[in-house]
Amino acid sequence: MKIFKTLREFNDFRVSINKEDIGFVPTMGNLHKGHISLIEHSFLNNSITVVSIFVNPTQFGPNEDFAIYPRTLYKDCEEIHGLEMKLQRKDPEKEIIVFSPDSMNDVYPEGFSTKIIVSGVTDKLCGVKRPNHFEGVTIVVYKLFSLVNPKIAYFGKKDYQQFIVIKKMVRDLSLPVEIESCPIIRAEDGLALSSRNQYLTPPEREKALILPKTINASNYLFSKNSLKVALEKFNSLKADVMSKGKWEYLEVYDAESLEPVTEKTISFLIAGAYQSTAARLIDNTVVKNNYV
Ligand code: AMP
Repeated sequence: MKIFKTLREFNDFRVSINKEDIGFVPTMGNLHKGHISLIEHSFLNNSITVVSIFVNPTQFGPNEDFAIYPRTLYKDCEEIHGLEMKLQRKDPEKEIIVFSPDSMNDVYPEGFSTKIIVSGVTDKLCGVKRPNHFEGVTIVVYKLFSLVNPKIAYFGKKDYQQFIVIKKMVRDLSLPVEIESCPIIRAEDGLALSSRNQYLTPPEREKALILPKTINASNYLFSKNSLKVALEKFNSLKADVMSKGKWEYLEVYDAESLEPVTEKTISFLIAGAYQSTAARLIDNTVVKNNYV
């Protein structure tokens, strides 16, 4: 497994390979099984997989956890190395490359002032309380796409809105990359894996399980009922759970466009953000409209 910590080294490597099927997995590190599943998807489908590890400051708000975000590069690399050895038993010619720029300047050179704003899909759900978050995501992902030049990039459905925003950016700007989404990986208790789960104490975690339980119950409502009935039941479930904990939102949208749902919506996105004492947690599910 090769690790590049400077842009110069990575660029030299990138021009030295003329392989076209490069898969790309952008991450902020502190890898867990959710990240690993994306890397596995990429490894299976591409001859080279580039994993970036970069805690991107521009996607954090002023009062968020950028300073304390867990940085575990050594352990992450060990994990990726172990995974590569395992996967190479079947596909010895494939490899995984880690790109983890040490210097902020390599990603944001002095005087950096470019922005990419994907409007519409960013002004709801997480975009309401995190107003500049998606601008930070789009600019870093665009920059990484231009450095890595992948054929396919892999994103987790755990951050469903992020996946839609990136897909829209790629479509609007005709970027030459395919965007694939991978399923949410959960812990045994149902909580979606997240680097921020480690901020939770066991009692906080127990309380936070209301998030996946509500998402799961909502999935059932929308798969078993017509839209009108599902919305009635969903609204009463929402009122009940919101009275019991600190929710930022619990909403249903068209899963393709993030527009309000109608009888003709093909699939519903039900997404929630729950504010635990120590961490803000998000979760979602996509349900096919069985009545369309
Ligand atoms: P992050 O390091 O949090 O920026 O996440 C990097 C990528 O991993 C993003 O595409 C996330 O959506 C994805 N990811 C994070 N957690 C999970 C999970 N539990 N299941 C699937 N993908 C995930």
